[in-house]
Amino acid sequence: MPRRNRRPPPPAGVTFDPQRPRREACATKERYDSEAEARSIALMNVPRGRGAATKPYHCDVCGGWHLTSR
Ligand SMILES: [Zn+2]
Repeated sequence: MPRRNRRPPPPAGVTFDPQRPRREACATKERYDSEAEARSIALMNVPRGRGAATKPYHCDVCGGWHLTSR
């Protein structure tokens, strides 16, 4: 499956950006269009009989959904 979501690196010279950790997470994670899609992907990755180890959260950087392990 090709990775969607490849983005260029942020411009150099950025100093303090309170959104930066989230932006970095956003840039490295898969993005899903909806919570339902993210959740279904999370469930596909779990061993049978176990709950999802990741949960979807809404990303206000890109407006999509990502999965977080905690
Ligand atoms: Zn995002």
